[in-house]
Amino acid sequence: MEERERRIGANEILYRSVNERIEDLNATFGTLTSSMTIVCECGDAACAQQIDLDVSTYERVRSDGALFVIVPGHQIEDVEDVVEEADTYMVVRKDAGGPEELAQAHDPRS
Ligand SMILES: [Zn+2]
Repeated sequence: MEERERRIGANEILYRSVNERIEDLNATFGTLTSSMTIVCECGDAACAQQIDLDVSTYERVRSDGALFVIVPGHQIEDVEDVVEEADTYMVVRKDAGGPEELAQAHDPRS
């Protein structure tokens, strides 16, 4: 895998783990509602945009270690494919091979 692909993947993994903490904190402080605010899980290290998302949607995405939630338009076409499009978010699947293996190896739910 190229260094660039690895860097993109590492950034997505970092923001995914941030979002897992956000969900934990929501649960800890009893602010569990039907929606939550997460940070964009795209491969751009400079991106810190927020996304409002249903908890059920977040859980559905998180059940697959190859999926990430991003702001629409933040996909990086050569390492991932858009598999779901909504008004406020997109879900991308990491491409098979190196990008997916890296994402799965760091899956916080496995
Ligand atoms: Zn982004």
